[in-house]
Amino acid sequence: MLPATAAHGIEQHLDAAATHLAGVDGETRTRAQLRADVFTGHYLHAAATAGLDPQGPLRGVVPTVRVTIPALTLLGRSDEPATLDGYGPIDLDTARDLAAGAPAWVRVLTHPVTGTVIDVDRHAYKVPADLKRLIRIRYPTCVFPGCGRPSDSCDIDHRIRWADGGTTSADNLTPACPRHHPVKDETQWGLHRDPDTGDLTWTTPTGHHTDTDPPPF
Ligand SMILES: [Zn+2]
Repeated sequence: MLPATAAHGIEQHLDAAATHLAGVDGETRTRAQLRADVFTGHYLHAAATAGLDPQGPLRGVVPTVRVTIPALTLLGRSDEPATLDGYGPIDLDTARDLAAGAPAWVRVLTHPVTGTVIDVDRHAYKVPADLKRLIRIRYPTCVFPGCGRPSDSCDIDHRIRWADGGTTSADNLTPACPRHHPVKDETQWGLHRDPDTGDLTWTTPTGHHTDTDPPPF
């Protein structure tokens, strides 16, 4: 609960801001929408200014808002609108600004045909359920050489580690079983992905290269 004076002050401020915006040429939002947008904008700006990291220890505190953008829209080849979760369609410029501006926004890119999530921006470490599903279909087993553990019982691993700048995207996620996940993260084994073919190759600790599914010896 807010003290009544603070609540009243916020109310007055939101009303004044909404009245001002409602007078702008081309503004189509209702007063309720304008008030909500002004409030959300201030709140997220304050969170960003305070340096709150949505992946940090305070992640339970910062609201995470998802902006979903169809891939073709982002490339300028479709007019399908972006969507702000819990709000509705928003224009692409607004979506771009939101996604680029504040740490509390999560940008989600979707596949043009299937609507499947294909990329989540850098601020989201957690892999969304449909992206996990896509990775498990693409790789039916753990990707460690010769391992046949079904990907359904594997972790979804950031191939390039999050701490090293890896993104939560279809190109950077692979299934790794509980036994091989630490092998990749904590030893000299390296996993590489050909950006053109998508083929995965491993580098062994002795510097040799091997496929994820090597031929039987
Ligand atoms: Zn494995």
